[in-house]
Amino acid sequence: MSSSFNQVCFRTIGLPNPASLKTYRSVGGYEVLKRIITEKIPAADIIAEIKLSGLRGRGGAGFPTGLKWTFMPRNYDGEKYLVCNSDEGEPGTFKDRDILRYNPHQIIEGMAIGAYAMGVKTAYNYIHGEIWAEYEIFERALDEARVAGLLGDNILGTDFTFNLYAHHGYGAYICGEETALIESIEGKKGQPRFKPPFPATYGVFGKPSTINNTETFASVPYILQHGGQNFLDLGVANSGGTKLFSISGHVEKPCNVEVNMGMPFSELLALAGGVWKGRKLKAVIPGGSSVPVVPADIMMQCTMDYDSIVKVGGSMLGAGSVIVMDETTDMVKTLDRLSYFYYEESCGQCTPCREGTGWLWRVVRRIAEGKGRMEDLDLLTDVSNNISGRTICALGDAAATPVLSFIKHFRPEFEYYIEHGRSMLKV
Ligand code: SF4
Repeated sequence: MSSSFNQVCFRTIGLPNPASLKTYRSVGGYEVLKRIITEKIPAADIIAEIKLSGLRGRGGAGFPTGLKWTFMPRNYDGEKYLVCNSDEGEPGTFKDRDILRYNPHQIIEGMAIGAYAMGVKTAYNYIHGEIWAEYEIFERALDEARVAGLLGDNILGTDFTFNLYAHHGYGAYICGEETALIESIEGKKGQPRFKPPFPATYGVFGKPSTINNTETFASVPYILQHGGQNFLDLGVANSGGTKLFSISGHVEKPCNVEVNMGMPFSELLALAGGVWKGRKLKAVIPGGSSVPVVPADIMMQCTMDYDSIVKVGGSMLGAGSVIVMDETTDMVKTLDRLSYFYYEESCGQCTPCREGTGWLWRVVRRIAEGKGRMEDLDLLTDVSNNISGRTICALGDAAATPVLSFIKHFRPEFEYYIEHGRSMLKV
C-alpha cells in the first residue's frame, strides 16, 4: 500500500482549472478511451480488468462493479441505458459533488468506457437537485467533450457512438435510490419501484440499464490506465483501491479526502485535524446517517474498509461519509434530528415507512422534550423492527438503523432524559 492522497478521482485537484478538458488531458485523460475504441479492445477484457481491480460500488452498497456490468445483456437487440447516480443527499455525504466540481471529465470518460463495455449508446448523469454549481460545471464539461469529438456519433473517427446527458433532480433524498432515480429520469414522481424486475432487465424506459455511483465511474479510467492489479494493491483484501471520505461534524477541518482503503480511522481523523477544540471523541457514524453509530473506543480500532467497519465496528462503510461527534454531543437530540430527516424524506408509498418514520420521530421528539416514558424505548425498538425488511426500498431500514444503534450504544442517555426530563450532559 502506498500512502499518497487524491491520486485517482481527485487527481486534478491542485492543478489550474481542474475541471477543464485541457487539465484532464494533462494527466492522461481520455487516452484510455481513445486506446480502447481505436484498438477495439474486447469488452470482456475491460470487464475482466474491472473485476480484477476489486472496485465495488461507491454509492454505499459496495456491490462488485465488474460483476454488475456482466448483468447487462450485451446482445440485447434494442436501446440500453447507462446511468450515473450523482444524487447524494444523505446527511454526511458530500464527496460526489467534489468530483463533479473538480474532475468532471473523469466521470465522462469512465461512463464512456462503461458504455463501450456494455454496448450502450445513451447515458444520463442524474445530479442532485440542490447542487447547481456542480451541475453547471458538468454541463460545461459535456460541451467541451462534444466539441472535442469525445461524445456523440463516431467518436474520434471510430464506429463508437455515445451520447451523455446531465439530468438535474429536484432535491429529494429518495431519488438517490436507483429505481426512484429511473422514475425521475422518465419524468415521473421519484418513487422506488418494486424489485424484481431489476434495472439490468427493466430500467430506464423499461429497457436494460446499469446504474453506478459517480465515484465508481470516476475510478474506471485510472483502473484501465494503470491496470486492475495496481488499483487492487492500493487497498486491502476485499476492498481494492482508494476511497473518498467526507469527514464532517466535530473536527477541526471538515473535508473530503481520497485515501487508500484500509487506512486506520485514527489517521483519517488526523487528516481532518482531529476532534475540534481539544475535546474527546464520543462516537462516529462511519458511512452516512443510515448506518449504525459506533462508539469512540470501537471506532478507534477500525480501519477504513468494508470488512473492518462491519466486523470490528458493527456498522458499514456506506458512502464513506464520516460524521464525527465529540463528548458534548447530545445523542437524544442528534437522533431526533436524524429521525426527522427520514420522516420528511419518506416517499409515502408503503405503510411501514410512511407511518413508521413518523412514529419514530414523534417518540424520539417526545423524549427530547422531556416527556418520554420508559416504555418508549421498547416502543422505538418494536417500531424499528417492524419497519426493517418490510418496505419497498431501503429507506425504511435507513430510518430504523439509527434508532436501534443509538439506543443500543447510548441507552443511559435516553433513560436519563426520561427520568429527569433533560440531558445528562453538563454543557
Ligand atoms: Fe417510499 Fe419509504 Fe417505501 Fe421507500 S420504504 S418506497 S421511501 S415509503
